[in-house]
Order: sequence, then structure tokens, then C-alpha cells
Amino acid sequence: MKQTPEMDRIQQEMHPGIITQNGFLGDDSRHLNDMLQEQDAEIQRLGLTHEQIAARLAELRDAGVQGLGQPVRVEPHFEVTADSVRGRLPCPFMHGVTVGKLNTTIRNLASGETITVTDLTIHLIKDHGFYGGHGAPFAITPEHLARFLELT
Ligand SMILES: [Zn+2]
Repeated sequence: MKQTPEMDRIQQEMHPGIITQNGFLGDDSRHLNDMLQEQDAEIQRLGLTHEQIAARLAELRDAGVQGLGQPVRVEPHFEVTADSVRGRLPCPFMHGVTVGKLNTTIRNLASGETITVTDLTIHLIKDHGFYGGHGAPFAITPEHLARFLELT
């Protein structure tokens, strides 16, 4: 499907060195609207919503923040560490939203896997259904994320 000029501008904001050093697209050559459609379809196939994914991430993030940089255990078997950095980042969708720089590292103690998400990652999932391009920092496919969070 052809991409609107507005989507082109948003995708431009996602390139390296505009909002973040490494950008949001990785080595993904798809149009942003195709990424959004495919990621949305993936979530629908799983019987989930972007809100559910974002809510679980936010819940773990909130628990992690209580630890003030120290790891916090969250039932059933997650360990969460939140590291706040000064400053805020604008959302690449250019709707006047800025998000604090907070990195949350989540370890699933059952699977041994660790992921790191930022507050911008959580915002992009919740409000835009965007999980990042292939190979982008903090990008994780909807299916992988749902499995990691044990929502499937
Ligand atoms: Zn936004």
C-alpha cells in the first residue's frame, strides 16, 4: 500500500541521528505503514492488543522503578531493573508527546532471557502499535514480546 506523505515524515524522524543515535528502523527496508500493519496483524493473530502488551511492560517498569536501580523481583519469575537517565525524547509520530528517558531491563528467570525496553518503546507500542524495525535497538517482534511476557 502506498504510504502517505505524513507517514513518510514520521519514518524520516525514525532514522538514526534524528531522535536517537541509532534510530528506530534498524535495517528494515519496509515502509512504516507496512510495518505497522504487519505488527498489528501479528498481535491480532495472538488474540492480544497493543494495550495489553504495553500495560504488562508498564507494570513491570513501575515495579522496577521502586528498586531505584537495584533489581526487583516480580511474580511469577521476573527480575526488573529500571535505570533513569536525565532528559526526555520526543515521540517520532510528532504529536507533541515527549517521554522520559528510562531504560527497563527485564529478566525472565524461567526462560533465562533478558530484554530491555525504554519508556518510548512502551509509548510506541501503546499509542501507535509500533514495535520497531528489524534489527533496531530495543525492537522485539510482537510475538516474541508476548511470549517473553507470558501473555500467550
Ligand atoms: Zn507518540
